[in-house]
Amino acid sequence: MEVRKLNDLQKLVALSKQRGFVFQSSEVYGGLNSCWDYGPIGSQLKLNVKLAWWKAMTSRNDIVGIDAAILMHPQVWKASGHVDGFSDPLVDCLDCQNRFRADTNMVDGEIVCPKCESKNLTEPRNFNLMFETYMGPVKEDASVVYLRPETAQGIFVNFGNVQASTRKKIPFGIAQIGKSFRNEITPGNFIFRTREFEQMEMQYFVKPGTDDEWFETWKKTRWDFYKTLGINQDKLRFHAHGDGELAHYAKAAFDIEYEFPIGWQELEGVHNRTDFDLSQHQKFSGKKLEYFDEANKEKYLPYVVETAVGCDRMCLMIMSDAYREEVTSKDGKEDVRVVMGFAPHIAPVKVGILPLSKKEPLKSLALKIRDDLAQNWNVEYDEAGSIGKRYRRQDEIGTPFCITVDFETSEDNAVTIRHRDSMEQERVSLDKLKEFLAPKLLA
Ligand code: ATP
Repeated sequence: MEVRKLNDLQKLVALSKQRGFVFQSSEVYGGLNSCWDYGPIGSQLKLNVKLAWWKAMTSRNDIVGIDAAILMHPQVWKASGHVDGFSDPLVDCLDCQNRFRADTNMVDGEIVCPKCESKNLTEPRNFNLMFETYMGPVKEDASVVYLRPETAQGIFVNFGNVQASTRKKIPFGIAQIGKSFRNEITPGNFIFRTREFEQMEMQYFVKPGTDDEWFETWKKTRWDFYKTLGINQDKLRFHAHGDGELAHYAKAAFDIEYEFPIGWQELEGVHNRTDFDLSQHQKFSGKKLEYFDEANKEKYLPYVVETAVGCDRMCLMIMSDAYREEVTSKDGKEDVRVVMGFAPHIAPVKVGILPLSKKEPLKSLALKIRDDLAQNWNVEYDEAGSIGKRYRRQDEIGTPFCITVDFETSEDNAVTIRHRDSMEQERVSLDKLKEFLAPKLLA
């Protein structure tokens, strides 16, 4: 048997639509560029990804979670440097009118249009990536607010509240999952780069001087997280930011990159943000944000080591990594089984329940099993079409187990369980079903 991995993102886009992972936003109106909606299977996948991340962070004794508002006081973005500095250099091609980012389209030090290769371009001008809107009924400059371009600032401005309410001692971290918005000049590649996306960020507050050590610890911790997701380690690597790449707030930065079908790209950033953000908010708000270390009777502004990853990008990575085509030859014809080999705890549907016939008593028996298992897991009942086609459908959404209810079930009180990866089948009695599945669905 030949196994083919994903080599073309368009295959994933097509499967996503067909099976309900991800749809183009507002498709009936022709779609809205770079916006995507998660369907019934995709939204469950995304939720599982968020839960895995949230659990990895907040099950630790030294990390707590928050959920801050998307709209924040406009001064936040002055202090953070986003109003003045969160921009990309925008260029128009005078030959084909293509609009693109100058910094990512350089050839031998010269800007070149990625569409027609012309060098006949406008001068680069800075384009701020923040979306603006107005708060209240009057559209005037004084009421401008921004859709947050990163979730991190909601954590920095709540540092004092969180520390006081939880009495956490440094070092400790604050984790958050939420939407961010960037008016990207060139979004694209499916859910890789979009203008509305979800971030999973954790800011870890440490004593200055211990930041380098914590930076290394977090690099390793995040790498290990991807191991728990079952991601192919050969497709992950670190990329250290050189001096020219470092963001204005960063002392050190490493990206964790993944080899997507579009090439090696940033998946997650681990940054040493120093005390840049807290000192800026202290300056702009006039409020003290220092931490008092009671044991040593010391006051200081903590340094921050952050881990920042896009949830959508992580979903794309997980889907790309899970996709495989198993090709076999039958009577001179190629047969392709598409399988999404998700780790069981990430799989959107845990168990498919497939009665061999729609007729009674199989239907009622199968529905009873469905209702029972649905109390513990997200399961799917499917009675339509041949059993072979139904198995294939579950393989394509990555369901680790299928249960077939057959004509013997009412006699021997047992069902056949089919394993997604090996396609092996085994008979399990109904009263042992949950204890059979539970340990296998944990990891
Ligand atoms: P880039 O340089 O590619 O624009 P960045 O380095 O500015 O991205 P960060 O600000 O570090 O990105 O954001 C942290 C994470 O958020 C990224 O690693 C990525 O996973 C995710 N992310 C950032 N921008 C987008 C976007 N437009 N669409 C989807 N995910 C994004």
